[in-house]
Order: sequence, then C-alpha cells, then structure tokens
Amino acid sequence: MGIFNDPVVSTSLVIAAWAVFWHHWHGVGITLGYHRLLTHKALVVPKWLEYYICSGAYFALMGAPIVWVGVHRQHHQKSDTPMDPHSPRDGVRHALYRWMFYTNRVQTNEELQKQASDLMQDPLYRKLGYDHGAYHAQLNLALCVAFRVVLFFVFGWQCVVGNLIATFTIFWSTQFVNAFCHLPALGYRTYKTTEDSRNVWWVGLLAVGEGWHNNHHAIPRSARHGLEWWEFDFTWCCIWVLEKLGLATKVHLPSKELLEKKRETAVGKAQGKMTAAVTHAAEAAQKAAEAASQAAHEAAEAAYLAAVAAGKSAREAADSATNAAREAAELAGSTAREAALAAGKTANEAAEAATHAAREALETAEIAIAQIVPAKEKVAI
Ligand SMILES: [Zn+2]
Ligand SMILES: [Zn+2]
Repeated sequence: MGIFNDPVVSTSLVIAAWAVFWHHWHGVGITLGYHRLLTHKALVVPKWLEYYICSGAYFALMGAPIVWVGVHRQHHQKSDTPMDPHSPRDGVRHALYRWMFYTNRVQTNEELQKQASDLMQDPLYRKLGYDHGAYHAQLNLALCVAFRVVLFFVFGWQCVVGNLIATFTIFWSTQFVNAFCHLPALGYRTYKTTEDSRNVWWVGLLAVGEGWHNNHHAIPRSARHGLEWWEFDFTWCCIWVLEKLGLATKVHLPSKELLEKKRETAVGKAQGKMTAAVTHAAEAAQKAAEAASQAAHEAAEAAYLAAVAAGKSAREAADSATNAAREAAELAGSTAREAALAAGKTANEAAEAATHAAREALETAEIAIAQIVPAKEKVAI
C-alpha cells in the first residue's frame, strides 16, 4: 500500500472523501429537507431533526427556506408556463441560473408568503427571510462563510476544500433538475403529466434521487421519487432508514392503482407529443403575432413621425417662401424708391447743369456780340 503513503495521494483521498460526504449531506438537506419535507409534506420528522436536515440545504447556498418553498410550489402550479420561475422553455441558461435574478417577476412577495403560509408560522424560518429582496441571500451568504470558518477550525483545511467542491457539485446538480429534467430532448416519461417533466438517470444520481422528475410531477407528495427498480433514489434510502428508526412518520407513498392510472400509454405518449407540438406551434404563432404587431406599431409610429416631420417641412417651406417674398417685395419697394429718388436727383442735376450751360452759352454769346460790334465799326471807317 505504498501509494497511500504518498502525502499528495493521501491528502487527495481525504479531500475526495470529504467532498463525497458533503455532497450527500448538503444534497439530502435540499432533497429531503427543503423539497420532500417542507415543500411537499411527504413525511414528518421531529422539529430538531427537521432543522438539522434543512441546515444542509441552507449551507449549500439554497437561500431562506420560505423563499425556496414558495418558489418551488409555484413551479408545480405553473410548470412550463410563462409564470414558471425556471422553465427551460425560456432558455436552458434561464432554467440553470438566470431565473434566480427574476423570481420577483413571476411572483410578488405577497404571493410568495401565501404559497408558504405554513412556514410563515415558524419563527426561525421567518428570521432567515421571507421575500424576494436581497436580505435573505446576503444573510445566507454570510452564514455559509461562517459555517466554513467553523469547519476549518474543527476539521481542518482538507474538510473545507472537500466541502467547497461538494457545494459546487450539489448546487449545480439541483439546477440540473430545473433545466434538464424539463427538456423534451432528454430522458423519458413514465407518467402522464401536463408539463414537460422527464426522468433523467444521470441527474437522478447527481442530485441524490431528484432526477426522476416525471415521477415526482405525477405524484408530488410521494416521499419516494425513484419508482422503478433501476431508478436509484438515495434520498428515499435515507427516508427508509429514518422510518425504520422511528424518526420519520406519515411517510407518503402512492398506491399501485394510482400509479397505474397515471401511467402513460403509447397512445398517451403520442398524444402528449402532439399536444406539446401544438402548444409549441401555438406559442410560436403567438410570439410571431406579437412580433408582427410590434413591428406594425413601430412602423405606424415611424410613419406618424415622418408625416409630422413632412408637415413641419412643408409649413417651414411655406413660411420661408412667404418671408422671402415679403423681403423681396420690401427690397423691390425700397430699390424702386431709391431709383426714383436717384432719378429725381439726376434730373435735377441735369436741369441745373443745363441751366448753367445755357447761362454760360448766353454769356459767351454776349461777349462775342460785344466783339463783333467794334469790328463792324472798323469796317465802316
Ligand atoms: Zn419540475
Ligand atoms: Zn417538487
């Protein structure tokens, strides 16, 4: 066993063991605690045990129990409709993580509190937050950090590294249920349900039994999700042990008759596919109609703006033409006046010049006459 003496190998094994442990501890906190216990009342356990189990979910960054339960109950009531908090019909990325930022768009705080009215009576759950505001997420993050600091001082750094790996894997495994267990391209359906839920084996393994999601949507109150022999459900194993220990009571399981009634036949499957296709086509047509209406609206608006702009230009053109005409007329008037004045002035000057010239001519003539007279007299002598 020389290889285990290598410190890198032995440390890695310790971290891996912690990661596997924490993946299941947090996982059961989410699936058994928040989901089957709080949301669906599939079983009853003593309050101290309920708090302990649910702490696994809280320390896996799942947020306040009231908020988680309120959102998940809405998911069951509005599955794969526009009011579903995380349907992949709104895109796989939306169903994986984006939905967390938009829960208040599909559910008001009042609706959330009504959905989880039973948990609103619990003072501890209330303290952890009961609306879509940032408070419950911030408190959750702070307490998650504090929890890991405690782990560090009690169990050492390998435990914390293993826990961080597990927090990552279980957090995303839970989101995989939302996204991949409602994708028509994956898995299979055993039961007739009104939404797109699927059983996806690898999500079943990763999310400690939650991937048998079509079974779950068919009988939401069932404490057991893996209903066929091959559908391994780790969470159900834990519930079975708790029941044997006398710690879990009122464990809800569906009767064979109910399961048989809900089973999807070949005809039912074909009808389901047809219904889904018709629904998708209707949704696509509605979206197209909405887009067309939007485009028409925008075009009308643009046309209206163009008409207003054109009317404005015509008015402006008319105004500027009138102004130009007025200015031209004024200019013409003033030019004419000036021309007349100038002409009058010129005529005056011309008359004066003519008078002057005539006077000079007269003077010259008189001088000439005066010279002519003595010359005549000389001729006469
Ligand atoms: Zn679902
Ligand atoms: Zn559920």
